[in-house]
Amino acid sequence: TAAVIDGRKASTELARVVRAELDELVADGGQCGLATVRVGDDFGSAMYERRLERVGCGLGVPVRQVRLPDTATEADLLDVVRALNGDGDVTGILLLRPLPARISEARVFGALDPGKDVEAVHPENAGLLALGTPRFVPSTAASVFYLLDDWLDQTGEDRAEFYRRALITVVGRSNNVGKPAVALASARQAAVQSVDEWASRSGMLGWYTRRSDVVIVAAGRPGLIRAEHVSADAIVIDVGINPSTDEDGTVRVVGDVAYDSVLDRARALTPVPGGVGPITDLWLLRNTVAAGRRRRRGVAPRPIGGAA
Ligand code: NAD
Repeated sequence: TAAVIDGRKASTELARVVRAELDELVADGGQCGLATVRVGDDFGSAMYERRLERVGCGLGVPVRQVRLPDTATEADLLDVVRALNGDGDVTGILLLRPLPARISEARVFGALDPGKDVEAVHPENAGLLALGTPRFVPSTAASVFYLLDDWLDQTGEDRAEFYRRALITVVGRSNNVGKPAVALASARQAAVQSVDEWASRSGMLGWYTRRSDVVIVAAGRPGLIRAEHVSADAIVIDVGINPSTDEDGTVRVVGDVAYDSVLDRARALTPVPGGVGPITDLWLLRNTVAAGRRRRRGVAPRPIGGAA
């Protein structure tokens, strides 16, 4: 049976770290605050917005929620972004997705102040990440490697050595999760395979994942990865968040991994919920604190090879 990597437990320790970083910032005369911006009524982004408010409140990081109606235009959203760029109380801005199809993500992301772009969606920040010198590490990919690093440390394995010998497969290649995860795996000197829907359609998915030491799954497809897709030595990180309706009509959240099936086979596995999710919110707020510190002190981007 695989070891279960407990994200809730790891999040308690990370919360302590973020609180200490916040205290240090405040003692230094700095401050920070997150603004979340949501257009319309998407269920998932409304849920994420509420979670960030709750976690921010617990940490002592102010979170302001800006909501625009579904009818808002790109010009309306750009006005909001520019106002937040110039707002001294705000050190981090998160644009919740999805945006309505008529609004260009690229134009809105490009209008963000890169120093406040805590999810690293501005091309300058995405480029810095790809170069291995990120200003901010996007929260989901950061959480994947936070859990991996932490778990390897707990097993007493030499983390740097493990990554140098590892083959890591990232299933899913989105700009917000899959690609940043590839960048972080590369920064650790691992060999990396990046696959998407075409690997599944061509029947090759298992061929890639079975030979992998680490499988990171971010496809948004419940049950995509089963026991036959992984080796007995694999560490499987499940990023997926999918609604699943039980026979009695109860809606639960499930990942992209068939949990029981992979639990029987792999070396270690993250559950959903209680795996990557709890770390993600904390990480975004951590980036918001870091943005406050950067504004106060001015810090140059530094390499992420090895420890992040
Ligand atoms: P996305 O839809 O933008 O991208 C999905 C990617 O997976 C694409 O590259 C697509 O080609 C690939 N894919 C789709 N079907 C596939 C298949 N059958 N086989 C292989 N690859 C396939 O999604 P995203 O924003 O990257 O999110 C992925 C999942 O992670 C979703 O379930 C989302 O809810 C979840 N998510 C979780 C967190 C968290 O904090 N845990 C954060 C963000 C996203």
